[in-house]
Amino acid sequence: MTQVKAYAAVSATSGLTPSTIERREPGAHDVEIAIEFCGLCHSDVHTIRSEWGPAKYPLVPGHEIVGTVSRVGDSVEGFTVGERVGVGCMVDSCRECDSCLEGFEQYCEVGNVGTYGAVDRRNGGTITQGGYAQGIVVDENYVLHIPEGMDPAATAPLLCAGITTYSPLRYLDVQDGDKVGVIGLGGLGHMAVKIAKALGATVTVFTTSPAKTTDALDLGADHVVISSDPSAMAGAKASLNAIIDTVAAVHDLNPYLRTLARDGALIQLGLPSEKMPPVEPGLLIRKRLAYGGSLIGGIAETQEMLDFCAEHGIVSDIELVTAADLDGAYDRMVAGDVKYRFVLDTATI
Ligand code: NAP
Ligand code: ZN
Ligand code: ZN
Repeated sequence: MTQVKAYAAVSATSGLTPSTIERREPGAHDVEIAIEFCGLCHSDVHTIRSEWGPAKYPLVPGHEIVGTVSRVGDSVEGFTVGERVGVGCMVDSCRECDSCLEGFEQYCEVGNVGTYGAVDRRNGGTITQGGYAQGIVVDENYVLHIPEGMDPAATAPLLCAGITTYSPLRYLDVQDGDKVGVIGLGGLGHMAVKIAKALGATVTVFTTSPAKTTDALDLGADHVVISSDPSAMAGAKASLNAIIDTVAAVHDLNPYLRTLARDGALIQLGLPSEKMPPVEPGLLIRKRLAYGGSLIGGIAETQEMLDFCAEHGIVSDIELVTAADLDGAYDRMVAGDVKYRFVLDTATI
């Protein structure tokens, strides 16, 4: 076992405090990573504050991890010491079910093993601990290569916010000339704008924050709609082919469904802790609309996304925070005050 410094929550109301956790010695197929940066995802907030049900405390969150390889197990072939690598939202899955075999490990039928707060079935049933830490040990099948030249801090959010938006955009086969809406300009939302633009789409941002209008346009959006303004929403009626919904709080989807054209689809990514108002079936039926959801992305698809982002010069717009700033950053995220992803500099732990 190796001791590493980390920041952990001990209860839903404790906030994040300094802690020391144990990492296993790298097994034959393991990669040990010296973590440099870890993005702050709204899922970390939901989990740590037990908004999705009681969390397993003490718990170190963080699943947007970038660092360098410090040791490798004897049988590791794909990674070398010193290489820059990433870890996203899962560190294992059953590797045998149809989903795993088809590269959809996130939908593993036994359950993917989340990077934090999950039972680590292959490692003694301990609870996984995430990336607000100075090191981690992960099976090489769940480690990603960070392409040369990418800024490590600004690349960290791609490991969740990037893949979570890339996957549904690719699933919907978004391409040149398509019209894509993005609801919510936060961590996921700003990545959805950049990736949809790179795929050739015309992008409309729906935001509750008029102050984000200029930023949305600077990020590449073609149109910005203030979602609380009924006349602006009416102006967008039947204009879009696909919508990526990244809102972390309860909201009514029906006004957004009205902005879809025939055969359009709304994919929900945000997972609020409370029930959402029901979708009106008539809206779906009258224009053959689809309403669905999507969970992160598979490992091969995550690598594909990283390579795509490298090719298109895409990284996240970040604000670097110290470990002592974590609680304040969470409060700002909940208030929608994020430009557009907080990233923890693990040297400050
Ligand atoms: P975030 O950075 O906090 O962004 C969420 C954005 O939603 C806010 O910036 C805000 O944008 C908008 N918003 C917040 N409250 C709102 C409200 N009451 N009404 C309307 N809009 C509101 O969060 P994130 O990290 O992008 O995560 C977003 C959600 O996705 C979270 O629920 C998270 O758990 C979930 N998530 C899901 C997956 C998945 O696999 N499906 C993966 C990662 C995260 P504006 O100011 O522009 O309105
Ligand atoms: Zn996340
Ligand atoms: Zn599986």
